[in-house]
Parts: sequence; structure tokens; C-alpha cells
Amino acid sequence: MAEIRLDNIRKSFGAFEVIKGVSMDIRRGEFMVFVGPSGCGKSTLLRLISGLEDITSGTLSFDDKVVNQRAPSKRGIAMVFQSYALYPHMTVFDNMAFGMKLSGRTKDECRQRVEQAAGMLQLSPYLDRLPRQLSGGQRQRVAIGRAIVRDPKVFLFDEPLSNLDAALRVATRLEIAKLHRSMHNTTMIYVTHDQVEAMTLADRICVLRDGVVEQVGTPLELYETPNSLFVAGFIGSPK
Ligand code: ADP
Ligand code: MG
Repeated sequence: MAEIRLDNIRKSFGAFEVIKGVSMDIRRGEFMVFVGPSGCGKSTLLRLISGLEDITSGTLSFDDKVVNQRAPSKRGIAMVFQSYALYPHMTVFDNMAFGMKLSGRTKDECRQRVEQAAGMLQLSPYLDRLPRQLSGGQRQRVAIGRAIVRDPKVFLFDEPLSNLDAALRVATRLEIAKLHRSMHNTTMIYVTHDQVEAMTLADRICVLRDGVVEQVGTPLELYETPNSLFVAGFIGSPK
């Protein structure tokens, strides 16, 4: 069964239509990657799923319930931004605990969850540091940890590796894959314009072009049977 269903979703900013009738399903536990050129609407689509932007028309449902009007905080979703979205004046611990404190958990619960996430992400030695005292890769892991402690059903990643250097990109990519394997039934929706990331991380890939879905399929399906030159150019070899 689909956990998340997009049914003819459209989004306009003023007279400018950015998402032009997107329909697709995302299954529970799936690693779904959205790819497509800059400006095609990837970030907008994530923001619609998370509720940070309102849908202009169409239906978004989670577990067969329409959530078009549901507040972002009630959607069971955590979004991982690029690492520069950390609070510079807060320690790693406080950066990770911040969202949880707002949710009304006890101090002990917060500490326990932060310590567990830090352990998963090899951040335990750095909990008292400030973001500027960390490497780029460590900072990105803090950004991921901040999402993990909230125990979301769905993670949304918007190009989380794009400001890391090549070696760190590979290491952090492996970390994200490991995280998905270790968090059973956690759905990940991941936006990138990097085909290697898409091919290595995805259970399925959705290729977007100019606000429209070109093709959805497993990496192998898209590689072996792209249904357009556009998909082929993005993913695999031309037919
Ligand atoms: P991507 O993430 O694929 O690069 P975006 O979703 O960020 O693309 O943007 C898609 C298009 O929508 C772009 O042309 C962008 O300029 C436009 N856009 C995005 N957000 C807004 C906004 N808040 N107001 C007006 N236009 C926007
Ligand atoms: Mg974007």
C-alpha cells in the first residue's frame, strides 16, 4: 500500500506554474529519489509534501488520509537541509535536542535520544562542540541527527550532500544508506541532481522535468529501459 500518494498535484507561484500535475505513490520504507535539472521543481515538491508550502490543486494523502490542510508538525516528517542550517551559537547537543524540546519531551528523554542518534552517526565525542568546530561532514551528520531524534516516519532530504567535497560526499552517502537500512520501515524521500547518488541510494527514482514526472522506476529499469532521451541522458545509456 502507498504510504504517500500524490494525485494530480499542482503548484503555482502567482501566475507561474511550477508543479504541473504530479501523480505518484511512495511506499512505506521506500528510498525514493527525485532527480531532475535545476529549477524543475524538486525542492518545491518536497516542501509540498512536508507542508511548508500549500498545494494549489490536487490531493496529497498519507495512509489514505488527505493531508492537504494538515500542519507540517503533524505530518510525522523531518526534513534534512544542508548543513549550514545548524544554529551556530548552539552546541551539537543543543542543535540536535532543540526540535525535541519544543515537542514537550522530558529532559532525560531528550538526552537519551540525542545520545543514541549521536552514537549512530559517530558524533558522541563532539556533543559539546559548536558547529564551527566541526568538519563539513560532521556538521552534515548533525543535521541528519537533528532529524533522527524526532523519530519521523518519513525523512525528506534536499540535496544534503551538495556542499560537501567529493570524499565526504561518498562517506556521508554511505552513512545515509546505512541509516535507511537500520531504520526499518522509515521512508526516505531524497532530492539530488547527482546521478551517482540517485543510482546508488534509490529503491526507485522519479525523474522530473519542468514540473512533470518523466518516469518512475527502479535504477535498473530506468537504466535499461528509459522511456525518453531525457531520462536516458539523465540516468543511463541512450536507447
Ligand atoms: P529545484 O529544486 O528543482 O531546483 P525549485 O523547486 O527550487 O527547483 O524551483 C522550481 C521553480 O519554482 C523555479 O523556477 C523557482 O524559481 C520557482 N520558485 C520556487 N520557489 C518559489 C517561490 N517561493 N516563489 C516564486 N517562485 C518560486
Ligand atoms: Mg532545489
